[in-house]
Amino acid sequence: MSLIVQKFGGTSVANAERIFNVAGIVTDTYNKGNDVVVVVSAQGDTTDDLIAKGNEINPNASKRERDMLVSAGEQISIALLAMAIEKLGYPVVSLLGWQAGFQTSSAHTTARIKRVIPNRIRKELDKKCIVIVAGFQGLSRYDDITTLGRGGSDTSAVAIAAAMHADLCQIYTDVEGVYTADPRLVKNAKKLKAISYDEMLELATLGAQVLNNRSVEMAKKYNIELEVLSSLVKAPGTIVKETGKMEKMLISGVAKDTDIARISIVGVPDQPGFAFKIFSKLASKNINVDIILQSIGHNGKKDISFTIPKDRAEDAEKLVNEYADAIGAKEIIINTEVAKISIVGAGMESHAGVATKMFEALYDAQINIQMIATSEIKVSVLIDKKDAERAVTAIHEKFFEQ
Ligand code: ADP
Ligand code: ASP
Ligand code: MG
Repeated sequence: MSLIVQKFGGTSVANAERIFNVAGIVTDTYNKGNDVVVVVSAQGDTTDDLIAKGNEINPNASKRERDMLVSAGEQISIALLAMAIEKLGYPVVSLLGWQAGFQTSSAHTTARIKRVIPNRIRKELDKKCIVIVAGFQGLSRYDDITTLGRGGSDTSAVAIAAAMHADLCQIYTDVEGVYTADPRLVKNAKKLKAISYDEMLELATLGAQVLNNRSVEMAKKYNIELEVLSSLVKAPGTIVKETGKMEKMLISGVAKDTDIARISIVGVPDQPGFAFKIFSKLASKNINVDIILQSIGHNGKKDISFTIPKDRAEDAEKLVNEYADAIGAKEIIINTEVAKISIVGAGMESHAGVATKMFEALYDAQINIQMIATSEIKVSVLIDKKDAERAVTAIHEKFFEQ
C-alpha cells in the first residue's frame, strides 16, 4: 500500500463530466489499495472570474479581501469532487487549506507555505477516507485565509507529498506531460519522458506554466519525484526528478514569457554608484529585476535597461521617476510590449554554439534581439511581443525539427 498525492488543475474539473472523470481516476487509485490525497484547483476560469468580480466592486481592495474572494473557487471544486466520489459509493471528505494544516506567511496573494501539519488528513486516511484538499490556499498566523499566487495548487500538492512522505505525487493537467515547447503553440512539440528538477525549474520560471516554479523548487528540496500527466488521455506522462543517469539532452525546451516589461534609463552620468542606487530602491519595494543591460559610457553618459514583472511596471516607473533627478537620468522609457524567449538545457554547459544556433533561428526569421542573458543551462532573449510566437516556432524548429 502506498500514499499517493494526485493534483487536478482547473480544466480537469471544469464541468460535471470532467469531475466524474477525475472521480474515476481517484477511485481507481484507491481501489488498488492506496491511500489517496487529492488536491484540486478552481474550476475552469473561476479564479479569473472571481478576480474580475472583485475589480468590479473595488479595484483597490485589500489583499486580505482578495484572498477571501479567490480562495472560494477551490472550496467549490473540493465539495463537488467529494460529492461525485460519494455518489460512486466511496468514503470521502473534503478539506479547506486550513483544515488540511496549511500554515503560510501573511503575504496575502503571494503567501509562502511555512509548514503543513497533516494531522487531520492522517486521521481521515486512517478511517479509509479519500481526502480532497483545496489547493492554492492556507492560513496565516493571524488566522486569515491566504493564497499562494497563481498556479499555486501545484505547490500545495508537493507540500502535502513532502509533509506526509508520499510515495508518488502526480500532477494531472490538460496536456500529456512536459513538452519541448507549449504544445498549444508549437504543433511539433515533443513530450519529454523525463526532465531534471533544474531544467524544469528554469522552464517553469521562464514561462512554461505547466508546473508552478515554486512547486518544482519544493520538489527538488524534498526530493519528491513528480509525474506530470493528462487527466483526459491515458498515456505515460513526464517524470521530473534528479538527473542521475538520465540522458542529458542538449536542449530540453523553449519557453515564452510575455508578462514582463522593460525599463530603460537613458543618459545617466558614467560614475560609480548608479546601479546600486537604482536597484536597491527597486529591491526595497520587492520588485524583482531580471535581465540587466548597461551600455559602455560614452561622452560621460551611459544607459541602463532592465526587465521586471509586468504587474510591477507601474510601481517601478513611479519609483524610477521619483529618483530620476537624484540619479541624473535624462529620460526613462517603459515598454510593456516585450517578450522573453528562452531555451533551457543541461547539455548546453558542455556544448559551444547553442546560443549561436538560437540567434541564427531569430536571424532567419528576421526577429530583432533587444537584450540577451545567459546562465549554465539557459539562454534568454528579449524581443518585441508581436514576434513572440514566431520566435518560439522558429527556435523550436531549429533545435528539434531539423
Ligand atoms: P492546470 O490548470 O492543470 O494547472 P495550466 O494551464 O496551469 O494547467 O498548465 C497547463 C498548460 O501549460 C498547458 O495547457 C499548456 O498550454 C501550457 N504549457 C506551457 N508550456 C508547456 C510545456 N513546455 N509543456 C506542456 N505544457 C505547457
Ligand atoms: N486556481 C488558482 C489559479 O487559477 C490556483 C491554481 O490553479 O493552481 O491560479
Ligand atoms: Mg496550473
